[in-house]
Amino acid sequence: MTDIFNLSGKVAIVTGARTGIGQGIAEGLAEAGCDVVGAGHAAMPETEAYIKNLGRKFSFYDIDLVNQDKIQALVDETIKTFGCLDILVNNAGIIRREDVLDFSEKNWDDVINMNLKSLFFLSQAAARYMKDNGGGKIINIASMLSFQGGIRVVSYTASKSGVAGITKLMANELAKYNIQVNAIAPGYIATNNTEALIKDPKRSAEILGRIPADRWGKPEDLKGAAVFLASKASDYVSGHILAVDGGWLAR
Ligand code: NAP
Repeated sequence: MTDIFNLSGKVAIVTGARTGIGQGIAEGLAEAGCDVVGAGHAAMPETEAYIKNLGRKFSFYDIDLVNQDKIQALVDETIKTFGCLDILVNNAGIIRREDVLDFSEKNWDDVINMNLKSLFFLSQAAARYMKDNGGGKIINIASMLSFQGGIRVVSYTASKSGVAGITKLMANELAKYNIQVNAIAPGYIATNNTEALIKDPKRSAEILGRIPADRWGKPEDLKGAAVFLASKASDYVSGHILAVDGGWLAR
């Protein structure tokens, strides 16, 4: 049974693997046997050391995902370095907080460019390779704000609602090529992204009060869902958005 979760011999790109959820997912995939390209705009020494200590390969690719200039080169370089690309995890994402009546164009453009436009064009580049090479897995990181409105984060909500839509559309068009496109929607996970919420005692208490698991999530909580969606175990799962939220959405 455990073999269907085994990722030995597989190669994954994980964007934003330096910290938080991306780091947890990159480490989880490596624990299941995968080699990893960590793509981001700063070196990832902790992630690299953890993965290499497991005896897996790790390579860092320097890319600023607010723009799309190096997206094709990331896919090409991964294939050149590791010989293939089986799994793409679109994790890198940013959030900007501002009241809706004051929300700036820059805070709109930066978030949409990175969370939505780069996610799509990187998925497209990966899928073009996967189609000609037997298939693959694309895992997008969505959010509770793929389902709900949120407060003071309009571009983020737009981007994550869009991620849910892109996931389903790409799943529809690509399933016939044995490419499964799915998403993970994390609940409230303690990372840099949520630092401002955690530091606000009122918001922090409100959030915790609604989580049935009675704790904030940790990046490690995402490992199981990521390995499932990256592995043979999910070969007939397509266009699904898997909440890993301690029960938040069920409340
Ligand atoms: P995080 O620790 O801030 O991670 C964001 C990652 O994206 C970091 O590795 C960061 O790299 C990278 N990144 C930021 N700007 C970049 C750029 N211009 N180019 C390339 N990479 C860039 O926060 P996180 O919570 O783990 O977020 C990861 C994903 O989960 C995001 O898509 C986020 O929206 C989503 N998410 C988080 C939560 C939560 O509760 N934390 C809930 C739902 C969804 P550096 O660290 O080097 O800047």
